[in-house]
Amino acid sequence: MAAVTILDVIRTKRDGGELSDAQIEWFISSFTDRSIADEQASALLMAIVWRGLSPRELSTWTAAMIASGDRLDLSPVGRATCDKHSTGGVGDKVSLPLCPIVAACGVAVPQLSGRGLGHTGGTLDKLETIPGWSPHMTNEQFVTQLRDIGAVIAAAGDDLAPADRRMYALRDVTGTVEAIPLIASSIMSKKIAEGTDALVLDVKVGSGAFLPDIGLARELARTMVGLGSDHGVRTSALLTDMDQPLGLAVGNALEVTESVEILQGGGPADVIEVTLALARRMVELAGGGLDPGDALASGAAMDRWNEMIAAQGGKPSAPLARATEIEPYSAPTAGYVQRIDARKIGEAAWRLGAGRARKEDPVSPSAGIVLRAVAGDRVTVGQPVLDLHLDDPTRLAAALDALDGAIEIGDTPPEPRQLVHEQIDA
Ligand code: URA
Repeated sequence: MAAVTILDVIRTKRDGGELSDAQIEWFISSFTDRSIADEQASALLMAIVWRGLSPRELSTWTAAMIASGDRLDLSPVGRATCDKHSTGGVGDKVSLPLCPIVAACGVAVPQLSGRGLGHTGGTLDKLETIPGWSPHMTNEQFVTQLRDIGAVIAAAGDDLAPADRRMYALRDVTGTVEAIPLIASSIMSKKIAEGTDALVLDVKVGSGAFLPDIGLARELARTMVGLGSDHGVRTSALLTDMDQPLGLAVGNALEVTESVEILQGGGPADVIEVTLALARRMVELAGGGLDPGDALASGAAMDRWNEMIAAQGGKPSAPLARATEIEPYSAPTAGYVQRIDARKIGEAAWRLGAGRARKEDPVSPSAGIVLRAVAGDRVTVGQPVLDLHLDDPTRLAAALDALDGAIEIGDTPPEPRQLVHEQIDA
């Protein structure tokens, strides 16, 4: 067989041809060991943005990304495992109550997670606001905690799909993130390498979502569900609403506080509904277990949270960081709140310090936004509808700019919000 060259690979894809399995495997392994120049890899990624990948190419591409590192063996856990992945949203703290709820149902949740970028927050950033809590552990510690407590949220190590780590960094600076085959293979290679038996995907739809359009979100969900099944991971997706923030709290410590309220039996109804819908699907896919609603109501999930946090050095009852300033933001007119734009709220929280622009930037634990009104509430002119939490007053002006037009008000009550749009199975 003739040697594979990067120029042939780029030209084939540029001209709309199909790459052979050997070309794909060679590209991923040479890219991972840095023997391909970034400009040549970027040219291929841009050709894929335009030309796509066929189902066979995508399956081989994903398998090669998984094979670039270790695939964890979770068999010592001794019970069914099911993880959840969200495409990210504003106020999306669902993983925090969900992991202990599903663990309390008898299904182990192995969650290797990342940090937030842009207007959506990362699960690790939220949990790191708990004094003492650490996301770092060895593979052995991960498996042991999963066996003993049934829930772990931890940082993915360097050996998990290293091809994706390097490729995502390059895509981020070359305008090549927005391609369904590249997004699907990036997410699924990490989740499959994690070793989970089953996976539920929460694919967000609406202004605050990574892919706001429902048609594209559906295509991404179908593609990821197909990749999961190809690799022996039972996978299902729910398309859920991210046109408005989830819950009332947006920002790292603020979201931990809201999650604990849910585990204590309170908290906003929308977060509870989405969390329980995902939890039920996870328990079903894992082959059954207790009902997630019962695990929440009985306090068993709260106990599991305390164990899971303490096992990683965290003090579950320690006070969390609080902002030094709280600025109210008022309703521009009177009437019924129609909609609170998720993207604008996410951007404003980010400007206040809750998110990062580059992955090495620090985040503020305490900055963020708390909604005082939601769609359907009646408000008067000047009534505070949001509280902006901040430590650095110089950030306020940019946050106020981002909020322009965020609160839509009308004369009649809006239609009720539909939170779970569709379920997509293999
Ligand atoms: N999240 C990922 O992990 N990868 C992508 O490509 C996009 C979002």
